[in-house]
Amino acid sequence: MSAGDPSALKGGPRSEDDQQAHELAEMVAGIARRHIEPRAAAIDAEETFPWDVVQAYREAGLLCVLVPAAFGGAGGSLFDEAVIAEELARTDGSAAIIFTTQSICTELLVDMANEEQRRRYLSRVVAGQLLAIALTEPDAGSDAASIRTTARRAGDEYVLDGTKHFCTNGDVADLILVFALTAPGQGARGISLFAVERPSPGLRITRHDKKMGIHGTTTVEFVLEECRVPESARLGPENEGFQAAMRALERGRVAIGGSAVGLARGAMDYAVAYARERKQFGQPIASFQGIQFMLADMAIEIEAARRLVYYAARLADRDPVAFRAMSAKAKCFASDVAMRVTTDAVQVLGGMGYIRECPVERKMRDAKILQIFEGTNQLMRVLIARDLIGRL
Ligand SMILES: Cc1cc2nc3c(=O)[nH]c(=O)nc-3n(C[C@H](O)[C@H](O)[C@H](O)COP(=O)(O)OP(=O)(O)OC[C@H]3O[C@@H](n4cnc5c(N)ncnc54)[C@H](O)[C@@H]3O)c2cc1C
Repeated sequence: MSAGDPSALKGGPRSEDDQQAHELAEMVAGIARRHIEPRAAAIDAEETFPWDVVQAYREAGLLCVLVPAAFGGAGGSLFDEAVIAEELARTDGSAAIIFTTQSICTELLVDMANEEQRRRYLSRVVAGQLLAIALTEPDAGSDAASIRTTARRAGDEYVLDGTKHFCTNGDVADLILVFALTAPGQGARGISLFAVERPSPGLRITRHDKKMGIHGTTTVEFVLEECRVPESARLGPENEGFQAAMRALERGRVAIGGSAVGLARGAMDYAVAYARERKQFGQPIASFQGIQFMLADMAIEIEAARRLVYYAARLADRDPVAFRAMSAKAKCFASDVAMRVTTDAVQVLGGMGYIRECPVERKMRDAKILQIFEGTNQLMRVLIARDLIGRL
């Protein structure tokens, strides 16, 4: 199979020992080499949304990996998603986040849409439209059940009012999946999910955030002011949106783990190559044990993170109860590894590691977000401890 062959995406679930998984990784690595690597530094410096990369994803079918084959997608698994995210992140963090954002939104659509909505919305995903998810609000981050955006029924419509922030790609997406209160005062049991078209009357982007890293994604705040959506845009039953968000986030954490492994691998590979070339005291710095041990620790941690992410991916369908804590462990461990490895990669490069033109500097900035979004790593530890101890 040649690199860039979209047929590698077809064919259902794979496992890590599978030849198909290698073919998938090869295919994605080919896309990253051709379309992302030559552009990654410029995208980071200019902070522009990479429509050319999105177009490459469209052509390769990467925007609809999780859409079931019956609806024209690749029918991919969480394992496929982890492999793809890893390969993209090996080259560039933003490129992986564009993919994982599309995937978590697809999860929500597949989970919550009825047959008619699946036909309506998933066909657009297959056609290459972009999706965004809007749960977080200025006063509702980790405590996502405390959102204030409301969706009031008015005949056969809902009227949405509120402010969402930190919405990845909210200004470039065609459809934003918005969580809003349909039963105010009921907390998590009063939240529903809506597919809101962009543009829509009453939906206004109010801020573009400047970020530390992942400059090839946009992060926006938007307000909903008397934003009317038809009843047919409500995904799933009323007041069951929060549980859907938690399910999607649980599954999405596998791909965040995959992205973390990829970022770390990219940084380690660069550090190894640099350490072999760079000479001080008349010898390659790779000959110093202090450098060797840093590189060895990177390799150990990356391998462990990778196995944990793959294990969590496999558990998703086999044991949904055990999966809950495992996906949190995978996301938390892998993103902590990505942060440590990218930081140490900068250290291996010395002053060069701190310079913008050097890719490990970008990787270190990109890694940080993985410890924060889709549930901070403190929240991951809360979930893991709760699983361990039970409710007191
Ligand atoms: C670049 C970027 C992109 C994002 N994309 C999206 C998106 O597309 N859609 C979306 O809905 N959201 C998105 N988010 C939001 C993201 O998921 C939240 O930022 C994250 O969940 C944390 O919420 P917060 O920022 O309000 O932090 P807070 O909840 O205010 O947390 C602040 C600190 O307190 C800690 N903390 C909070 N509660 C506890 C606790 N119980 N125990 C221990 N520590 C705790 C946190 O770990 C953190 O260290 C994005 C954020 C960023 C920065």
